[in-house]
Amino acid sequence: MTIMVRYSCPACGLKDVQVDVPARGEEDVIAWMDQTFHAIGADHRQRSPNCRPERLVDVKVPMAGADRIGGPSVH
Ligand SMILES: [Zn+2]
Repeated sequence: MTIMVRYSCPACGLKDVQVDVPARGEEDVIAWMDQTFHAIGADHRQRSPNCRPERLVDVKVPMAGADRIGGPSVH
């Protein structure tokens, strides 16, 4: 099960790029966020190999329909 998060990088102009990441299961939210930021970082490296931002801003995790941060939406 995956969920879609979005991020933007003002340094190279990426805006609202969508990344599928594993939905959060029972793991701690901090651990999940860490994992998610790694996935976002890897996606960004692929799209902009020469961009080395200090951090990616504007990471959006969908909350609609989920019962916890990063959880799969329950429809
Ligand atoms: Zn960038």
